[in-house]
Amino acid sequence: LTTGLENAWNKLKGEEVLTKENIVEPMRDIRRALLEADVSLPVVRRFVQAVSEQAVGVGVIRGVKPDQQLVKIVSDELVKLMGGEVSELTFAKSPPTVILLAGLQGVGKTTVSAKLALYLKKQGKSCMLIAGDVYRPAAIDQLVILGKQVDVPVYTAGTDVKPAEIARQGLQEAKKKNVDVVIMDTAGRLQIDKTMMDELKDVKRTLNPTEVLLVVDAMTGQEAAALVTTFNLEIGITGAILTKLDGDSRGGAALSVKEVSGKPIKLVGRGERMEDLEPFYPDRMAGRILGMGDVLSFVEKAQEVMKQEDAEDLQQKIMSAKFDFNDFLKQTRAVAQMGSMSRVLGMIPGMGKVTPAQIREAEKSLQIMEAMIEVMTPEEREKPELLAESPARRKRIAKESGKTEQQVSQLVAQLFQMRVRMKNLMGVMQGGSVPALSN
Ligand code: GDP
Ligand code: MG
Repeated sequence: LTTGLENAWNKLKGEEVLTKENIVEPMRDIRRALLEADVSLPVVRRFVQAVSEQAVGVGVIRGVKPDQQLVKIVSDELVKLMGGEVSELTFAKSPPTVILLAGLQGVGKTTVSAKLALYLKKQGKSCMLIAGDVYRPAAIDQLVILGKQVDVPVYTAGTDVKPAEIARQGLQEAKKKNVDVVIMDTAGRLQIDKTMMDELKDVKRTLNPTEVLLVVDAMTGQEAAALVTTFNLEIGITGAILTKLDGDSRGGAALSVKEVSGKPIKLVGRGERMEDLEPFYPDRMAGRILGMGDVLSFVEKAQEVMKQEDAEDLQQKIMSAKFDFNDFLKQTRAVAQMGSMSRVLGMIPGMGKVTPAQIREAEKSLQIMEAMIEVMTPEEREKPELLAESPARRKRIAKESGKTEQQVSQLVAQLFQMRVRMKNLMGVMQGGSVPALSN
């Protein structure tokens, strides 16, 4: 997708404004790129139309080049297409909240069941799993093993009981145990078939679930559109979970789900580990799809997030190399709020493209940094030199934040590196010439 889109932007180099004429070629590239990314045709059509209409109407924004404007419009439109905001799970007013998982075979339902239980457990909710895949004994064992792994009870009734009956018994058990959330795993098929749908309908009737989540393999591509439509019409879903986003899927599935079903993607699976489940952030996904160092939106968002005075103050500090840990914290939090580490990392010269693994790594290290900065004294925050000079101080911070001394030293080193980096960056922004959007 990225290469196709880069072509699109490149065709606008040297243009002054976006016009009906000069967007024809770029829009064709965008269309092709989306189709190659496995987005379904009707979705592509509507998308291209929406972007074209806006592009011609935008007029000139001082200091912003037409290719950057188009990137912004495409990015905004992608985010909108995917539902705009993060869609949270719904919880029942009186527990238990019942979550029914559905989907084809091998998409990751059983894995997601356990991941979701762990995810909710971390939010302080007690969970119970119900093993509803009666077609393969191994599927029940699999859920039992995963349940042990995340330390969540699993209700099983063997393979001779009908799924709806298992659902009834499981729910009863859950009520007895007063659990907050019950998650039911179900059997999938290679293809959609009537037996599966009928079974799911029965189960749904029995459980009266708060959420019916369709588990979709990100690799499904444009097939996802038809899949989601059918499941939604047949059993009625409340949202989707996109799995295997750690693979090299091209994003098509993510783009189609909301558009064709009106139901949001709520969570994404990014790996085989139990911890690899997280909320679906449309803006991050758009960033991933665009896959480029998006300087423009960084600048914009940075200004939104940090108040204008703050930004100016920060700029002053950076220019005079006084960037301290307070700024560092403000900055990293602002970045976290932007929800888009990829863009920020991507815009740092030499970083190039960022993989999801790197993004996760970066987010994790942000948390570690915060913990260390939080235990610093006001003086230490303002004068990072104090820490650079005193091993005793670093030792204390390590102890209080529960990190290692090495991590503290790294943080200090990073701050000084950051000073240099920020200084370079500000120079670029102030000079009015934003670096090319491609790498
Ligand atoms: P089910 O048939 O829908 O229950 O699918 P399973 O939960 O048994 O998963 C099928 C396979 O996909 C297993 O090997 C899982 O480890 C793997 N899997 C599930 N979710 C993910 C994911 O997010 N990323 C990766 N890489 N593998 C996954
Ligand atoms: Mg399964």
